Amino acid sequence: MSNSGLNEQLTYYLSDVYAWNIDFYRLQKGDRFKVIYEEQFVDDTISIGIKRINAAIFEHSGRDYYAFEFQPDPEKGIVEYFDDSAKNLRRAFLKAPVKFGPVTSRYNLKRRIAYYGNRIRPHKGTDFGASIGTSILATANGVVVKASYTKGNGNYVTIKHNNTYSTQYLHMKRRKVKRGQTVKQGDVIGWVGMTGNTSGPHVCYRFWKNGRQVDPFKQKLPEAKPISNSLKKTYLTGIQEIKTELDCISFVKENSTINNTLALSTSEFK
Ligand SMILES: [Zn+2]
Repeated sequence: MSNSGLNEQLTYYLSDVYAWNIDFYRLQKGDRFKVIYEEQFVDDTISIGIKRINAAIFEHSGRDYYAFEFQPDPEKGIVEYFDDSAKNLRRAFLKAPVKFGPVTSRYNLKRRIAYYGNRIRPHKGTDFGASIGTSILATANGVVVKASYTKGNGNYVTIKHNNTYSTQYLHMKRRKVKRGQTVKQGDVIGWVGMTGNTSGPHVCYRFWKNGRQVDPFKQKLPEAKPISNSLKKTYLTGIQEIKTELDCISFVKENSTINNTLALSTSEFK
C-alpha cells in the first residue's frame, strides 16, 4: 500500500479491520483486496486523513473476507465490522500481542535446539520479534493475576481472561500493569525487551485453554460480540447496496483511486 502511495492511515485502518482474521505476515501470492473509504480534504487538495473504512473485501488464501462497518448500538457509537453473514470480525482475542511483529518461533512440542545438545525442548509459546520498547498489548479483556520477574521469564505478566483462557507475556523490558488490575483488549501492559532467558528482543506469548498450554493459532477463537438476532435482518438488508458497489469494482494490476474506492491487486505480495 505504501508503494502505491496510499495514505499510511488507510493501511493501519485496514489492518485493524482484519486484525483478527488475517495475519499480514502470512499473505499469499495472489491475495488482493478492495476497500471503500472516506478521506477528508481541506480545499479539496490537502488530505487531513482517513475518516473511516465503509466496506472492504480481502481475498486471502482463496477465501473472501468481507467487512462492513456497522454500529450495533448507535447510542454508544461504537463502530464494528461484520462480514457478509453478519459475523463480527473482531475476536475475543487479538491474533498477536504486538501490532507489527513477525512470528519468529511457533508453538512446537518437538522443537530441538542445538544449544541443548539437540535434545527436544518443547516451545509452548509463540515468539513475536519486535524492537525493544515496542508496546505489548493485552490480547483480550481480563485481570492481571501476575506481574513479576523470574530468571527464565524475565519481566512477565499473566492475564486471566475468564475460567477458560489465560495468557502470558514474557521478556518485557518493563511492565506497565500491576497484579489485580483490570485490562481491556489492546491495552498496553508492558514493553518488549530481552530480560530473562532470551537471545534477542521478542515477546514470548503463552496461551492457556482450560489449564493446558495450547497453540493460539490453532484455536477457534470466540466472536467478540455477536450481532443480536433482532438487528441481523437490518444489517443484512443494510449492506446490500454497498456490497454490490464493492463487488462491481474491478481489480487492476496497479492501484486506482476513483471516488475513494480502491481495488488493488497484490501480485506484488511475495
Ligand atoms: Zn518463546
